[in-house]
Amino acid sequence: MSIAEIYEKFKTCTGVSTDTRKIDEGVMFFALKGDKFNANEFAKEALEKGAKYVVIDEARYAVDDACILVSDVLYTLQKLANYHRQQFDIPFIGLTGSNGKTTSKELVATVLSKKYKTYYTKGNLNNHIGVPLTLLGLDDTYEIAVVEMGANHQGEIRDLCNICEPTHGFITNVGKAHLEGFGGVEGVKKGKGELYDFLVKSGGTVFVNAKNESLLEMAKSRAFINKVEYLKDNKVVMVIDSPTVVFSTQAPNLDPQNYTTHLPGWYNFENIAAAIAIGNFFGVSIEDASEAVSAYNPDNNRSQIIQKGTNSILLDAYNANPSSMSAAIQNFINLKTDKQKIVILGDMLELGDEAPAEHKAIGELVAKGDFDLVVLAGKLMASALDPLPKAYYFPDKFSLHNWLLDKQIQNAFVLIKGSRGMGLESTLQCFQ
Ligand code: ATP
Ligand code: MG
Repeated sequence: MSIAEIYEKFKTCTGVSTDTRKIDEGVMFFALKGDKFNANEFAKEALEKGAKYVVIDEARYAVDDACILVSDVLYTLQKLANYHRQQFDIPFIGLTGSNGKTTSKELVATVLSKKYKTYYTKGNLNNHIGVPLTLLGLDDTYEIAVVEMGANHQGEIRDLCNICEPTHGFITNVGKAHLEGFGGVEGVKKGKGELYDFLVKSGGTVFVNAKNESLLEMAKSRAFINKVEYLKDNKVVMVIDSPTVVFSTQAPNLDPQNYTTHLPGWYNFENIAAAIAIGNFFGVSIEDASEAVSAYNPDNNRSQIIQKGTNSILLDAYNANPSSMSAAIQNFINLKTDKQKIVILGDMLELGDEAPAEHKAIGELVAKGDFDLVVLAGKLMASALDPLPKAYYFPDKFSLHNWLLDKQIQNAFVLIKGSRGMGLESTLQCFQ
């Protein structure tokens, strides 16, 4: 069956699903395969649970006419998503980067929502499955779309761009994330640069952070027709970055005005500046954009400031890599507080051979911080111990929990950060 024919069927469905635990009546179910599962086996179950069609790639699971047999389910999902995307003549803003994608995506969407009905990636659905699912959720009531694209190896952003066909785009930054898959920082630049390559080829518009040398250089080496540099003038300036960003704007014909935000760190100021610049490009006034970012509250353990009794917790346990870890620590070093300062840091994963050196470098940075208490958790964090003779070290989270419960920390400002696999948000329960 051709993609156009499958699309005709898709149009009669209520949505799509790839998970038999989440099947709404009337959806098109895509039977994907993973290392440990083959959803072809659940085709019948999906139909019983209410799916209108199931897309499968193994003939023996075809139970009736509602089964659409294709040669590759994932490929079909991606092609269908692209076919659907091509039905819309609205701006598609694609974004990628080593850090801050989800935060930037939310901020850009918050700002654009001041003027447009804005569609944007839910949560972190940013990979070869998430991007197609995101696109297939779009309908013609929306006026603009913001799509997060993530990658951990070369060629992935190119493929996602071919599916999403962004008309506009930006890279948040290029740093030390997924070094294992990309092959070092140069590899990251090349891999993330695939978004720029797509926009050059398609004549799209790129937004470039003029304060970021790597991005400027990457943009310069490509012949863009439409390039908008932000953070070039003083329209938006950071006033304070700690504990949360305060910025000031110089809108034409208006007095300079300060805006407070719920986001910590200069690195979030860059995300804010991108959102304001992109909003402005699409006709949202700097004033409206600033109000929108100032009201935005992060969630999902990203840069959240949480009060627990007498403690203030800067919970940044959603993920960690050498760039975001040093940014968060540096920001915490700058933080002014009367409370004692404590850092609880967990392993940074997916670093391959670089892991020992990168953890050691984090130890060296923490040593400059003069923190009241340094707590490290995870096997890799053992490499950070050398420069930190007074640190408390726990090879696993559970011994960390017990120690924290025992310690009954009071009146502290605590930074908690580690990779997703560490799930350090669980330590929150150890604070009263
Ligand atoms: P993922 O790869 O998991 O999708 P992401 O790129 O979407 O991550 P976010 O979830 O927005 O990133 O943010 C994760 C963490 O990265 C934040 O909590 C913060 O510590 C850090 N971070 C956010 N923005 C930046 C930035 N511009 N530069 C460096 N670190 C940042
Ligand atoms: Mg994300």
